[in-house]
Amino acid sequence: MVRSIAEQNYWLTTVEMPSIDSGNALPEMVDVAVIGAGFTGLSAARTLAKRGARVALLEGETVGWGASSRNGGMVLTGMKLGVSKVIKKYGRELTRRMYAASLASIDCVEQIVREERIDCNFARCGHLEVACKQSHFAGYTRQAELIEVEFNHKLQVVPKQELSEEIGSSIYYGGMVDEASAGLNPARYVAGLARATARSGAAIFEHARVNSIERDSRQGEIGWKVTTSRGQLWTHEVFVGTSGYTGEATPELRKKIIPIGSFIITTEVLPKALAHELSPHNRMIYDSKNYLYYYRLTPDGRMLFGGRAAFFPESDQTIRRSAELLRRGMISVYPLLRDARIEYVWGGTLDFAFDIMPHAGQMDGMYFAVGYAGHGVAMATYQGQKVAEMMAGDKPDNPFVDIPFPGAPLNVYNGKPWFLPFAGAWYKVLDWVR
Ligand SMILES: Cc1cc2nc3c(=O)[nH]c(=O)nc-3n(C[C@H](O)[C@H](O)[C@H](O)COP(=O)(O)OP(=O)(O)OC[C@H]3O[C@@H](n4cnc5c(N)ncnc54)[C@H](O)[C@@H]3O)c2cc1C
Repeated sequence: MVRSIAEQNYWLTTVEMPSIDSGNALPEMVDVAVIGAGFTGLSAARTLAKRGARVALLEGETVGWGASSRNGGMVLTGMKLGVSKVIKKYGRELTRRMYAASLASIDCVEQIVREERIDCNFARCGHLEVACKQSHFAGYTRQAELIEVEFNHKLQVVPKQELSEEIGSSIYYGGMVDEASAGLNPARYVAGLARATARSGAAIFEHARVNSIERDSRQGEIGWKVTTSRGQLWTHEVFVGTSGYTGEATPELRKKIIPIGSFIITTEVLPKALAHELSPHNRMIYDSKNYLYYYRLTPDGRMLFGGRAAFFPESDQTIRRSAELLRRGMISVYPLLRDARIEYVWGGTLDFAFDIMPHAGQMDGMYFAVGYAGHGVAMATYQGQKVAEMMAGDKPDNPFVDIPFPGAPLNVYNGKPWFLPFAGAWYKVLDWVR
């Protein structure tokens, strides 16, 4: 049973979120209005302001309130969709560019952390994927070979008999390590990124929910009238970085995004020897199921254990239910944690496109970047920067721009994900049979 648990995001107890809203009224006119102050919006606003644009960053809640402060802090190589599927869909050349972008996205985070001196425990500790079935493990060798041949990137396949060097659990059939991945404290990272964005000259407005965006011309120039809960402004360009929280202000984008809940528990601080036994190299770990678990040690030595315990976005009910489900999941992986106290549980919403790919570019005349599917710590930072560079006039150099961005089959989705229980059940079935 889960006892004495705080329904609270553990990461937020490790940082003071910056208060960088001047409290001023919105400016009458800007070059770019950026919507959403998570990794995507902050990174875009920082890049644009550094290039000399007048930027207003409009956040409906507070800086970092969305997935960016709530995630597992895993800074991962690759994409959610396996590379062989990506090659089948887009061909070798485009997939090579996509994979290279995934590696560049980690360098991008590392560079920002260094340049802006963000104290967020960034470390290239590598990730470990563990196989829940023999057939999944058999796929690892093929995948590692493909990635080495196609992308010149080396992964290390770990057979079951050597897996104890990587993880203190005996339930898996083997693993695959990628040393290029990293870990960080996401709340400290987003707080530092917000401070850096403010230093770059972007004006940040919290509790400024964008309610509507309309085409508008002013003194012969075409732009946008943006109406928020704090007033109106006029802008030449709009950049949307609202991810899993995309709402009615951008209805076309909303129809292309499935908001999926993900939940996390953390234990009390573990004895050092136990923490080392569970994860000797402090990897970012996830398993091979569709309905997957992801887990890692926090910098202060707790086990952080997450998963799609419920598919629906976070609410008091889904968060409470997740605590017990995740605890059971954690003990099935690590029986040694049977008596560890669970101290925190929280949830957040991530964004999946129907094709499980990241997408960026322009829609209805507005710029956007979305669809990170659980790989957003690195990719959201990177896409925010890349799309901003494109807006500033650089030649587009981004493989996720302008790839087809499919909506729901038969156009049966209006942005309210009624099908999530069915999708969740379907993925559970797939995990049994495959
Ligand atoms: C529990 C959980 C665990 C995860 N773990 C990982 C992980 O380990 N590794 C990884 O790579 N990814 C992970 N992810 C995904 C990752 O956190 C996201 O992909 C990433 O944070 C997306 O950043 P973002 O800036 O695009 O969106 P968000 O951080 O969600 O920010 C969007 C912001 O837009 C604002 N907004 C929405 N509508 C409006 C409006 N109309 N007006 C003004 N503001 C608005 C919201 O308030 C919100 O602050 C996880 C996600 C969750 C929920």
